[in-house]
Parts: sequence; C-alpha cells; structure tokens
Amino acid sequence: MVRQKIDDNRDGVMFELTNSGDWSFFHMPELAQAGISHGFCTGASPSDLVNEDARRRFLDAFHLKDIVTMRQVHGTTVHTIRNGEKPESGDGFVLVEKGIAGIIRTADCLPVILCDPSRPLVSIVHAGWRGTAAGIVGKAVDTMERLGAAKERMIALLGPSIGPCCYEVKEDVRVAFSVERFPRHIFQEQDNSMFLNLREANAWVLRALGVNRIYDTDLCTCCEQTYFYSFRRGDKGRRQINFVSIRG
Ligand SMILES: [Zn+2]
Repeated sequence: MVRQKIDDNRDGVMFELTNSGDWSFFHMPELAQAGISHGFCTGASPSDLVNEDARRRFLDAFHLKDIVTMRQVHGTTVHTIRNGEKPESGDGFVLVEKGIAGIIRTADCLPVILCDPSRPLVSIVHAGWRGTAAGIVGKAVDTMERLGAAKERMIALLGPSIGPCCYEVKEDVRVAFSVERFPRHIFQEQDNSMFLNLREANAWVLRALGVNRIYDTDLCTCCEQTYFYSFRRGDKGRRQINFVSIRG
C-alpha cells in the first residue's frame, strides 16, 4: 500500500492509495472513518459509469444508492442534489442526500472535495483554469453555507491535477486570473515560460473565504503516469473519476 504524505502534515493526516472492488483511489482514511466516502481514482480504475454493469459494481463497491454525473463545461454552475436531480451539465455538485455520490471526471483539471462532516454536507467540483478563475470553488462554499455548513468546520481536499511543474500557460491565462484579482504568486516563471499553480489558486480562494483546513494530495497528473491520465501528456479523451458521498 502506498501512503502519500501531504504538505500540511501538522495533524498527521495522510492520503492513502487503497482500493475497493475494481477501483483504486487516493483518499483520506480519517475522513472516510468520519462517514465521508470519497476517492480520487487512478486511471487504472473503470471510468465509464454509463455502462450499467460497471455502474452497478461501483454502487456495490462503495455501498451507494446512486451516482450523479454530468457534462462538464468549465463553468461555475454548482447543482444541489437532494431529491434525485440529474442535471445535464455543470461543474459542481453539493450533495445533501446520503448514499448519493457526485462524480467529477478529470485528466489534469483539479477535482476539489469539500465537506462539513458535522452536518454532514459534501461537495465536489471540477476546477480547470477557466472554472478556477471564474470562482467555482467559492460558489460551492457559498452553496454549502446556505445549506447550513460552516466555513470554520469545512475541510477541503485538493485532488490530483497537473502541477506547476508541468502546467505551462500563455498570457491569456495570466490575464484571466489578473482580471479576477488573483495574486501573482500563483504563476511561476522559468526560462521565459510561465507555469500556473492551479492548486495554489484554489487554496488561495478557499483561505480568502475562511476555509483553512485544506489538504493537498500534491500529485501531478502529468508527472505521475503510473497513476493518472493527463491531457497534457497526450491522453486525449481519457479521464479518471473522482467522487464524494455522505455514507448512507
Ligand atoms: Zn508535473
């Protein structure tokens, strides 16, 4: 079993690579024990949950009643799922009902899981550079707050995404973040190239909102080819799944 240390290890919290059924995933055991079923799956795991057989096995593996998926569009729409809603498109879910998992697919974009274990209330968002600059993670925090979550109790998990080591971007991306008043340090310059730190951009938004318990897997999808698909590395059209659910 691979144990993945995280940057902020003050509480001794660690991410762990584990598996259930056909799915191998990174998760935080302490959060799982607190009743928040969640995972950042590796590329070796089945990702086509439209296939009825795979869907059934996924539900069984994680003791779920149902899953919600949608077409991701790099926007800021966060859907609240409380009565079996099945939204067509958007980039975030807030889940109220127990046993329903929100699924986000990624292959370099950042999956962010948010939860307030004491409610309990959970959320998962798809944060690529467009969604991050447009504020999707803040939208999810606001939605959770309106439903009774408290920012000081919230825990944020930053999943695997392309890291600043590999995410070279052009001027249009810098301008987009600058317009939204993101700090300059989310970009790093090297040899006349500019690299975006997507995880720090989202962590900065979370801290600015008062969500301070942020745990970063610190895994780069582009570097870690054993585990993940990466669009930038050339895996066109292949994505891994990420999920969160309140255990039923
Ligand atoms: Zn990298």
